[in-house]
Amino acid sequence: MKLLHGLWLALGIASTCPLANAQTVPGSMNVHWNEGATDCSKSPQPPLQVHRYNAQTYILRENPCATFEAPFMYLLIGSRRALLIDTGDVADPRLMPLAKTVMDLLPTDAGAKLPLLVVHTHGHLDHRAGDPQFRSLPRVQVVATDLAHVKQFFGFHEWPQGIAQIDLGDRIVDVLPTPGHYPSHVSYYDRNTALFFSGDFFMPGRLIIDDTASDVASARRVADFIKHRPVSYVLGGHVELDAAGDTYTWGSTYHPNEHVLQLTKQDLLGLPAMVGKFNGFYTEDGMFVMFNQFRLLAAELAAALLVLAALVAGMWRYLRRRKRARLARA
Ligand SMILES: [Zn+2]
Ligand SMILES: [Zn+2]
Repeated sequence: MKLLHGLWLALGIASTCPLANAQTVPGSMNVHWNEGATDCSKSPQPPLQVHRYNAQTYILRENPCATFEAPFMYLLIGSRRALLIDTGDVADPRLMPLAKTVMDLLPTDAGAKLPLLVVHTHGHLDHRAGDPQFRSLPRVQVVATDLAHVKQFFGFHEWPQGIAQIDLGDRIVDVLPTPGHYPSHVSYYDRNTALFFSGDFFMPGRLIIDDTASDVASARRVADFIKHRPVSYVLGGHVELDAAGDTYTWGSTYHPNEHVLQLTKQDLLGLPAMVGKFNGFYTEDGMFVMFNQFRLLAAELAAALLVLAALVAGMWRYLRRRKRARLARA
């Protein structure tokens, strides 16, 4: 295991600015993502859409009809190996041919596919359900998503401090701890394209924040990191807003007139201030909605119990009145 670490993590933990003179390789975000449908049975669609950002970078998205989560995944190809960030929400390869699609995109090196490292932004099932498709493939390594494994694999000794690097061969990807949405959430910065992959930590959708203090601290560390670096686009795990900034109904398989996937460096620099406004339950800020799902659930449960208690009390009072009236008539 340690040897493998040495192969993948050529540079280990570092926090200094590494790319003063690097040229950012451009790419295209000119893509229309499939919208899904209100009735998916009447409108069959390919389960997986692949967008070629540039010759070494692909964006994959699961169709809203295949899963309403419609998560995005990212494939980065270096000269010696490739990196897949997230494996989506669908396990069954017959329904979602993710591994086959990814392996077909990989170039061959001396007659064999380039080695592939499969990592994740975080451990929610909609970002790792496809893992089993990769586990038995040759020259493929899948990194687990629990905090202990994430810390160990990337060599984070002072989590959430520090920045790790993955060396793909002529392509370095920085790994930044970004807990808040999920305890072992990490974000990735590709020095080659200056793309920042933010997972569910930051995206055009509902920002679920389970640990506000960690989330604010992550937003500050990220802002600090990108301040003096180029960022071409910030790419998250989902799009849950339409172009006007309104959220789709939860569970909707139809995303008409969708907001673009990409957010900007300026958006990401504004994240510390935005999360700073979060009241711990539910806060709207511009097009973003922030909420704590556990607290909201607890509040809804408490409200439901109050309504139930009021109903029981009302019924009890009514029955008591009827009894009194009966006794008065007798
Ligand atoms: Zn998530
Ligand atoms: Zn997600």
